[in-house]
Amino acid sequence: MASDSLSSLPLNRLKGVGPAAAEKLTKLGLHNLEDLLFHLPFRYEDRTRITPIGSLRPETGVVIEGEVMAADVVFGRRRSLLCKVADGTGMVTLRFYHFTAAQKNNLERGRPIRVYGEPRPGAAGLEFYHPEYQIAHGHQPLPPLEKALTPVYPTTDGVSQKTLRNLTTQALAYLQAHPPRELIPSTLLDQSGLPSLTDALTKLHNPRPDDPVNLLLEGQHPAVQRLVMEEMVAHQLGMLQKRAGQKAFHAPRLTGTTLFDRLQASLPFALTGAQQRVIAELMKDMGQPHPMLRLVQGDVGSGKTLVAAAAALAAIEAGYQVALMAPTELLAEQHRDNFRQWLSPLGIEVHWLAGSLGAKARRETNAALADGSANIVVGTHALFQDAVQFHRLGLTIIDEQHRFGVQQRLALREKGRFETRHGVQVPHQLVLTATPIPRTLAMSVYGDLDTSVIDEMPPGRKPIDTLVLPEGRRPQVIERINDACQAGTQAYWVCTLIEESEELQAQAAEATYEELQAALPDLTVELVHGRMKAKEKAERMARFSSGQAQLLIATTVIEVGVDVPNATLMVMENAERLGLAQLHQLRGRVGRGGEQSYCLLLYKSPLSLTGKQRLAVMRDTTDGFVIAEEDLKLRGPGEWLGTRQTGDLAFRIADLVRDEALMEPARNVADRLLQECPSLVDPLLRRWLKGGQDYADI
Ligand code: ADP
Ligand code: MG
Repeated sequence: MASDSLSSLPLNRLKGVGPAAAEKLTKLGLHNLEDLLFHLPFRYEDRTRITPIGSLRPETGVVIEGEVMAADVVFGRRRSLLCKVADGTGMVTLRFYHFTAAQKNNLERGRPIRVYGEPRPGAAGLEFYHPEYQIAHGHQPLPPLEKALTPVYPTTDGVSQKTLRNLTTQALAYLQAHPPRELIPSTLLDQSGLPSLTDALTKLHNPRPDDPVNLLLEGQHPAVQRLVMEEMVAHQLGMLQKRAGQKAFHAPRLTGTTLFDRLQASLPFALTGAQQRVIAELMKDMGQPHPMLRLVQGDVGSGKTLVAAAAALAAIEAGYQVALMAPTELLAEQHRDNFRQWLSPLGIEVHWLAGSLGAKARRETNAALADGSANIVVGTHALFQDAVQFHRLGLTIIDEQHRFGVQQRLALREKGRFETRHGVQVPHQLVLTATPIPRTLAMSVYGDLDTSVIDEMPPGRKPIDTLVLPEGRRPQVIERINDACQAGTQAYWVCTLIEESEELQAQAAEATYEELQAALPDLTVELVHGRMKAKEKAERMARFSSGQAQLLIATTVIEVGVDVPNATLMVMENAERLGLAQLHQLRGRVGRGGEQSYCLLLYKSPLSLTGKQRLAVMRDTTDGFVIAEEDLKLRGPGEWLGTRQTGDLAFRIADLVRDEALMEPARNVADRLLQECPSLVDPLLRRWLKGGQDYADI
């Protein structure tokens, strides 16, 4: 038998699967024997023991066996069929609201019957509502009891548990007769005591009554871990391959530091140790003739922009172009302004490309990029439009990578792809994120990137003091804003209404604006929201940055990029409705100067238990990594990452939160497997990464 014979056997090879059934199974994602065996139960029923009727209690899932005493149709509030069953220890009633005449006739007095279901208190004492049952035919005895626990599978309309069990039983028989090749050599699975694939699958579909069901269901059993391990190894191999594929391209060596040294000399502050270390890591990468692929993580305010500038200047110095892309216009503008401030004195013009840019200006920028007279362009998604062509793109920088998809990062890279004498050349890639990514996620989503962490804040920053307050304290909060602003500092008020529509968000912000303007007559209040034209937004932001306005009312558009060190107070409404990572980002708008800053989280009562826990996390820590880990636990990876990247995490069995501890070992196994048994890589990828779309686009 070929090693991957399970996946080459379509389900219609099994008994009882015609074209109609096959189509329904396809809807469940089940095409072949392998799919079927990896389709795991989500609970088990114990049908291995008989409970005497006399000792029944209301509980889930029991088997009774007895004799039919009577079966009568009664006309109460609803017509129902009542069947009495006795076993010598007691009598119990089965109640059916839907039944056929044949069914009633079949429940003949004196016949042995076996019933599976949940006894519940009813009109006639304990009753089984619509239980499953088997009845003996003629003089035949009832079939023997189940020996294994009965699996219950996730399913959809039209595919019954019975069908799935029947097919799985056939597939398991095939598996026993033709065990699949073990794709992770036992030498690599070390002494972890994990079973073979065949044993693991058999255990999961047919556990014995004394097996620890909870461990199986919670993923703590070696049988589940065996599958999780293999899937994670495959996933990591996919990442390693992808990365090796990318690294195989050529890239220009960019090593100059003259420009950056000049920038550094002009700064009013010294780089932090962490910034220096990360810059050194970048420079080492960019000095190689292969593309850098590096993710720089650094908490809000840790100074990532300067690190990006160091990379950009190395590229410019070598005569290459740089593209810096940010997910929102506001953030992109912030980068543009920062870069202009730093680079103009060096004689470098920073170009700009965003949706709001007029046609003429856009044509000019495009022309300057195409003929190479533009060294650096900052912008939004507008950067990877077809009309944008570069002369010699050597470095792409993407801020807040998690707001983009992998495809978008690659689309930008493509703009710097050249055929050279040595082969294909692509730009270096630098990815920045202020949203600390929990390790497990980083390893699985960004496993193809090298990572650097800026784990140190510029000196003099005081941790933000956070208070959690009920909405009823609004008057005191407004008072506090007044005091803070009268004392010469500035404040944000964030309207965090979660609405699909920007329109509604804008309306809510307008209403709050009017309310606060009336309540704070001595202050100049400003408003920004996503429905405003970029120019208007910029003007209003400028009035706040310059100190003309003391209070800024905003929607979450200010989440990223806004930098006003004099702002020391932030109020967030409906804080309980936002993700922790987002709250953390928002909070990072204060605490940027030397003054003590405060963040007031207002919530609507009553607060759920998780709501309380989440806000407590915000109150108790300002460490972005701690917050990210908690957020991941509370929300799960899908929601955490947003829909954009969940595709990259389409695990069949592994669960990133539950199986976190296996990620590191899986990575190690993947590394060794690639070195020691490269011939197993392809079969593993084929087994686990269906289609492997993501892995093909390197
Ligand atoms: P983020 O990592 O959130 O993007 P920024 O790059 O915007 O952070 O930096 C935040 C602020 O800190 C900016 O005003 C920046 O000029 C300043 N900054 C950066 N590095 C240092 C440093 N080493 N010492 C003091 N201030 C710094
Ligand atoms: Mg930033």
